[in-house]
Amino acid sequence: MARLIFITGGVVSSLGKGLASAALGALLQARGYKVRLRKLDPYLNVDPGTMSPFQHGEVYVTDDGAETDLDLGHYERFTGVASSKADNITAGRIYQQFIEKERRGDYLGRTVQVIPHVTDQIKEFIQAGQDDLDFLLCEIGGTVGDIEGLPFFEAIRQLGNELGSERVAFVHLTLVPFIETAGELKTKPTQHSVKELRGIGIQPDILLCRSSKPIPEDERRKIALFCNVRPERVIPAIDLPTIYQAPIHFHDVGFDTQVLKVFGIENAPPPDLSRWRWVVDRVTNPEGEVRIAVVGKYMQVKDSYKSLSEALTHGGLANNVRVKMDWIDSEIFERDDAAAFLEEVDGILVPGGFGERGTQGKIEAVKFARNRKVPFFGICYGLHMAVIEVARDLAGLEGAGTTENGKPRHPVIALMTEWTKGNRLETRSEEGDLGGTMRLGAYPAVLTPGSRVAEIYGATEISERHRHRYEVNVGYTRQLEEHGFRVSGWSPDGRLPEIMEISDHPWFIGVQFHPELKSKPFEPHPLFASFIAAAVHQSRLV
Ligand code: GLN
Repeated sequence: MARLIFITGGVVSSLGKGLASAALGALLQARGYKVRLRKLDPYLNVDPGTMSPFQHGEVYVTDDGAETDLDLGHYERFTGVASSKADNITAGRIYQQFIEKERRGDYLGRTVQVIPHVTDQIKEFIQAGQDDLDFLLCEIGGTVGDIEGLPFFEAIRQLGNELGSERVAFVHLTLVPFIETAGELKTKPTQHSVKELRGIGIQPDILLCRSSKPIPEDERRKIALFCNVRPERVIPAIDLPTIYQAPIHFHDVGFDTQVLKVFGIENAPPPDLSRWRWVVDRVTNPEGEVRIAVVGKYMQVKDSYKSLSEALTHGGLANNVRVKMDWIDSEIFERDDAAAFLEEVDGILVPGGFGERGTQGKIEAVKFARNRKVPFFGICYGLHMAVIEVARDLAGLEGAGTTENGKPRHPVIALMTEWTKGNRLETRSEEGDLGGTMRLGAYPAVLTPGSRVAEIYGATEISERHRHRYEVNVGYTRQLEEHGFRVSGWSPDGRLPEIMEISDHPWFIGVQFHPELKSKPFEPHPLFASFIAAAVHQSRLV
């Protein structure tokens, strides 16, 4: 059975709990252990699928079609272990499950309560399917003291008690702020946070102290004393130039060593950090730089396109260049000439999105990329925009559009109501719940031999993750192909276009799926590597 590591947070949110968990997972993995990461989210949404990216950042999609918290993206990028439905749960889903059980009569007339029923459900979720693992890392969303988090903290307290210290470790991430006026680092918020945690029965084994400056020995001793933790287990987590340095930094400050010691493991093999050294070296010493314009909608919130910006960075790693991203709100192009913003860039990417606002601006960006022969990458909604642009401008289909935004004269993007997955027929209807009618998760695609994408992937059969309701309408593909916009990837049943490309262009590819979800720093996604290579080529032309 796996050893459990619980990672909780205190003082404030956004301290990088997800990243710290992912980096610890990567470190244990680098020592040869088999790890898996899970996230418990105390909010009442059943999943983040219906939450706005403005509120909650990106929705990360797993192979098995779960819409999950973006921290699962960090976990996958750091460990390469594909996450699944079983790795993210919210209070909403737990309540939904046990209310269903209660309605079925499973509780045999007993009163259903938070303790033990909800907490048992949480414990069951944590412990499911972990037999072949060495370590299961479980991050609790939010911060200690949040009312909605209490059942989760109670559940992990119980597990700590039941399984004992050889099987369970508690890591608590806090903030040690630097107060400019006093010129000092302050330990009091950490003391209070740990007091709160101990108040609900959890004594942390390790404190990870986020700080903008190195934490002097005296302050570490003080934190240790007040928080009942050994001084060597007060681990400083200082701001780093790149997130990918976290595994190396954490190892240098003894994080993994101390975690192992909590479990009584003294002689673990040292971690092989070579892949992380390669990544950090590439990130910090690139040979050049390219500029990519990302023309989308949710530009104010950095986390809305988390996987995308990481995948672009990975594309840079593959080409040994830094990728500078211009995040442009597409609505700007509805007022101002796109050229003024796009003249200097080496590549244009229109990412996934929903709804009508800003679509005309995205179409302008596609037009600029196509006419000026600037590398163009359209992802999901970005493909839809490219199809609409080509349909209107090249195929002469005036009024071409997507049925997502009304009833266009030429519905070149439309809701397809049926398709097959393996031997199964899948369907969806216009009226279904917003959360229930998407094509979600991994689907295979067959690539046309000799096409650019087949060359990029070095394969003709691929699998990528989806999250969308609308598709390129096959009723129009012949007309689009006649004008040079070819379908080069199809669903295996030949019903759904998955990839389209213009061959008479330096790099013009639109994909129906989200390749950014599977890119990793040590394994950049081939499409991003190739797109950035095209941008490097472009940058040498201008
Ligand atoms: N809004 C589009 C759809 O639902 C595209 C979604 C996306 O880009 N992920 O089909």
